[in-house]
This record gives sequence, structure tokens and C-alpha cells, in this order.
Amino acid sequence: MKRYIAAANWKMNKDVPESREFVKELLKKLLNIKDAEVILCPPFTSLFSIGELLKKSKVRLGAQNMHFADSGAFTGEISAGMLKSVYCEYVILGHSERRHVFGETDEDIHKKLLKALEKELKPILCVGETLEERQSGRTIDVLKQQYRAAFDGLSDNDMRRCAIAYEPVWAIGTGVVATPEQASEAHREIRQLIARQFSGDLAQEMRILYGGSVKPENADELIATDEIDGFLVGGAGLKVDSFASIVQSVDNYLQAQE
Ligand code: PEP
Repeated sequence: MKRYIAAANWKMNKDVPESREFVKELLKKLLNIKDAEVILCPPFTSLFSIGELLKKSKVRLGAQNMHFADSGAFTGEISAGMLKSVYCEYVILGHSERRHVFGETDEDIHKKLLKALEKELKPILCVGETLEERQSGRTIDVLKQQYRAAFDGLSDNDMRRCAIAYEPVWAIGTGVVATPEQASEAHREIRQLIARQFSGDLAQEMRILYGGSVKPENADELIATDEIDGFLVGGAGLKVDSFASIVQSVDNYLQAQE
């Protein structure tokens, strides 16, 4: 069975004491979780400390970004090797805030993805259209462009180590969630791109997450949508109760499939 993901992206929120408090509370609430893979992506400053707390748990640690170089004169940047040394297993790449606020290009993201894989991190690649792109009928073209640029030239084995998050920019942090139909259409398109580049089997194996205003109130409906293999959660991932409830929705769905 495919292991669905519930990942929290804390963005620039929570200092070290707040991060530790969250993790201690969360671990108590996840005792009955069996099948969902839970990933926390705190700010860089909390990675080591949380990593220590998570060592004996099944919760995985991810970073929100990285640089594509191994080391050097890149003031303010963090390398893949550094992330590995603070217990990271995953790294989010190409988040819409990185693309649109910090001007990351498809080429930057491709270089980061290759470096992450070389250093044995598992990338979660974010793709998604803006409202203007959707309204002008360019959603599929944008997804194709972002997908192709990121995964160009990858081997099957490297692709297997990635996950993809479809995150429509208009749904991120806005309270406007994509409908199951809108999400399914985008996920199906992404799966077809994988099938064409690799194989139908690999396309089915890959985990394609949905992100954008996921909350406890909409998680059950979304996760029941065939194409959605988990969530990347922003705002609702900052509160223990709401994130634990979303994890529970993912886990309940998986257990019902057994
Ligand atoms: C995100 O930033 O990846 C995200 C999905 O945010 P939110 O859940 O707050 O919309």
C-alpha cells in the first residue's frame, strides 16, 4: 500500500522552545497513528533540536529549502549536507513563496533537486499555478513547465525518491481550498507527465500531495479523492490539534483501505 504523507510546513514560525513544545505535544497525540507518514518542516534553526526529539519516533524531519552548492561564499544559505547533519530526510523545493517572493527559477529548483538527491535527501517538489494563470486557462501549461524543468533527466530510481505537492498559489494561506475535482484534474495531469517520462507503474507509485488551505474540516473529503496521496499543510500545521486531526484523517483513510 502506498504510504500517504501528512507534512507540515511551518514557514518562518516558531522559535526553538516553541518547536520543542509542539513536538512533545504532537507525539502524545500520534500514538495511534499506524500508516500515515508524518513529516515536520520547521525553520532551519529548529531542525537539530527537533531532530533529537524525533529520533526515536516515526515522525520524519524536512527542511523548507536548501542551496544547490555544496559549500562556499553563499551568505545566508544552507547546503544539503548541512541538512543531512541535522537529521533531515526530506526537503521542500520550489515552494510558491520561494518562486514568487524570492524569485527562484525553474533552473534553480532543478539544480537543488539534483543536489538533494545526490546527498540522499528526499525532495518534495511544489508546483502550482497562480490565480491569473488559472483564470487565463494556463494551469496545465504551468504544471507541465514546472514539472519538466524540475525532473528533466532523472533516473527512475531518483524519481522514486521524490514526492510532488500540487499547491495552487491562489489556495495557499487564503482559506480558499481547491475542490476535489480541481485537485484531481491537476494531479491526474501530473501523473500523466510521470507516466510519459517514466512508466505507468512509477506514476501510480509516486505520492502526489495536495496543499492549499487544508484544514481538519476539509481533510476527510480531500483525502478520499482518488488522486490525492497526502497533504502539505501550512497554517493548520502550526497548531498541534489541527495538524494531529489532519494526520488522523490521512491515517483513517489508509486504515479503511486495508
Ligand atoms: C503551504 O504554504 O504550503 C500551504 C499549503 O499553506 P496553507 O495550508 O496555509 O494554505
